[in-house]
Amino acid sequence: MKDRYGRTIDYMRVSITDRCDLRCRYCMPEGCEKVSMSQILTYEEIVRICKAASELGIRRIKITGGEPFVRLGCTDLIRSIKKIDGIEEVTVTTNGQILERYIDELKEIGIDGINISLDTLDPERYRFITGRGELDKTLRSIERSARAGIKTKINCLLQKGFNEDEMFDFAELAFRHGIDVRFIEMMPVGAADASMGVSNTYVLQRLTERWPGLEPDESVHGNGPAVYYKRPGAEGGIGLISSIHGKFCSSCNRVRLTSQGQLKPCLGYDTGTDLMQFLKGSDDELREAIRKAIYEKPEAHSFSDRGNNDDHAEHRLMSQIGG
Ligand code: SAM
Ligand code: SF4
Repeated sequence: MKDRYGRTIDYMRVSITDRCDLRCRYCMPEGCEKVSMSQILTYEEIVRICKAASELGIRRIKITGGEPFVRLGCTDLIRSIKKIDGIEEVTVTTNGQILERYIDELKEIGIDGINISLDTLDPERYRFITGRGELDKTLRSIERSARAGIKTKINCLLQKGFNEDEMFDFAELAFRHGIDVRFIEMMPVGAADASMGVSNTYVLQRLTERWPGLEPDESVHGNGPAVYYKRPGAEGGIGLISSIHGKFCSSCNRVRLTSQGQLKPCLGYDTGTDLMQFLKGSDDELREAIRKAIYEKPEAHSFSDRGNNDDHAEHRLMSQIGG
């Protein structure tokens, strides 16, 4: 369906848990509080919401978290959502720590893509940034996913003075192994501050200095705002998701469902519709609540280099929203 600004909204990110096996410093730092399971949507409720959303034109679903695979039965949920009439694509975003063991099942279910978050190729840095992660596990998951023929992408968040020197290694990884690598600008949400991040304008400049033949790639790679570049002859591409320096709100196509049942029309604001209460009513009432929330999606976020300067700025952790 279209929102009041005429944008087609056909993509919903569904966070199925606020829990995670990692503690990425900018997302879910050590010591943060968790929500009790009784406040979290059940899988049946998530499927019901996805069905209602599909009747309103949602065609693509991204399963996210927290870490989706730490919630038991995640693959069963993916299977159920894949079967919903009107849903054309189900993908998942994961840190890749325990993904490897689910690859065969995901392949059999027909998952449409896996995005794996990876900010560094250095084991020490990986442990530092994630608090407790093991780089090898995620690298194995990436390899197995790609080998299984699943569309696999890497999401990389560069931070000033920490891992920005690795942009070339990630680009090489894309060019050599046929896996798209997307550089995501740090957004001022939860524990993060936009000034920690690296501008994609700078990333593109540095990459073009190194590879002058880099050229825009107009083909569609995914669900949204990444702008892609390719190197003639190389297999994978470089995507730039420039939420701060390339504001793409006028073509935004998405809404977000938090694990607690809030339908969030824009990442930048803490506002949304609590669908928990509508789950007590009829399917028509639920669908109407979703329709209204989508229709009233804000025109734009208010992120800037200096932060998120709105009364309703989003202060929850990114792990509670789903990224
Ligand atoms: N645990 C899964 C993962 O890491 O992919 C899924 C949830 S995580 C919140 C989804 C994505 O959000 C990750 O790629 C992460 O790097 C990104 N993210 C977290 N905090 C962010 C921030 N402040 N700005 C931009 N991206 C962020
Ligand atoms: Fe967990 Fe993903 Fe957040 Fe890292 S980015 S803490 S893996 S939810």
